[in-house]
Amino acid sequence: MIPLLDLQAQYASIKDEIEPAVLRVLASGHYVLGVEVARFEEEFATYCDASHAIAVNTGTSALHLALLAADVGPGDEVLTVAFTFVATASAVCYTGARPVFIDVDPVTLTMDPAKLEAAITSRTKAIMPVHLYGQMADMDAIKEIADRYGIPVIEDACQAHGAEYKGRRAGSIGASGCFSFYPGKNLGACGEGGIVVTNNDEHARKIRMLRDWGQEQRYHHALKGFNYRMDEIQGAILRVKLRHLEAWTEARRVRAEHYSALLAHSRSVLAPVAMIDRRHVYHVYAVRTRDREQLQHTLRSEGIHSGLHYPIPVHLQKAHLDLGYRPGDLPESEAAAREVLSLPIYPELTLKQVERVAAVLEQDAYVS
Ligand SMILES: *Cc1c(COP(=O)(O)O)cnc(C)c1O
Repeated sequence: MIPLLDLQAQYASIKDEIEPAVLRVLASGHYVLGVEVARFEEEFATYCDASHAIAVNTGTSALHLALLAADVGPGDEVLTVAFTFVATASAVCYTGARPVFIDVDPVTLTMDPAKLEAAITSRTKAIMPVHLYGQMADMDAIKEIADRYGIPVIEDACQAHGAEYKGRRAGSIGASGCFSFYPGKNLGACGEGGIVVTNNDEHARKIRMLRDWGQEQRYHHALKGFNYRMDEIQGAILRVKLRHLEAWTEARRVRAEHYSALLAHSRSVLAPVAMIDRRHVYHVYAVRTRDREQLQHTLRSEGIHSGLHYPIPVHLQKAHLDLGYRPGDLPESEAAAREVLSLPIYPELTLKQVERVAAVLEQDAYVS
């Protein structure tokens, strides 16, 4: 059996570091927003080349607070994408603003900058591209337009820990960048977690207050805040895992490149395109295919798990039909939702297993 990801294998490889870190927290008597979280914030800010990092309880909370720090609220519009996990749009809705969807570039499946400027109105308060699958959106083109209109860019980097665009780290280019530490992400907690990184002192101060009931000091609530705090246990675990992240990322890249070499002339699937000016961190390795159901079935029968990220774009989700979008409005997002298929990828996957998955995909090309 080859799973889509294998968190038990990861745990086994770092058990000896994780367990003492967790026991240290249990013995400390301090369980929320303490020294482990504070140290992790410093270490993650350094990792992202950003001056501040504010840890929160989920990636969705990170997006929510980054939007609030940019003063996004009712009556505003946020330009984002529909080909993403639903949380991107939900975070916009939490603020009372309206998500406006820009179609994706068919090659990278990230926000198409050529379609961005026409969507800007007097209500546009922020632009939120998603670094989908671990590859950054075209930040120069997006920033050029955003800067011309004075609109802040908030990076949804929830899938892109350590990704780079022209040598610059995800999260460090926009006004802020938001990451998730959901267990299956490239850097994952043993539970929920998230963080906002920013170079803006004022945004950092505001986000720090908002995550902890809007307090300036204890029981002095200057803002209407939230309980979005990170647990000490998660902070301690994330500190251990952060030390391994670069090696894990390189292992993902090696496996992805192996897949792409094996599938370069495939008759059944199209390998993902890694842009030359970016460091793709392969949170997801998604091929495109017109025979998705058949391929998933064949893989399944060979004990290989695959995934769909994502089968329904946000603008066609029942929960968001009130936004007024209809099928056909975002043709590239809709085509991608029909055709993408995620293959197993994680650092502990062996190159032999990669070869086996590729061989099964190819075997299908000759029978169909
Ligand atoms: C995972 C994810 C989120 C949400 O993160 P949570 O930690 O699950 O709240 C937001 N956006 C994208 C693109 C994601 O992949």
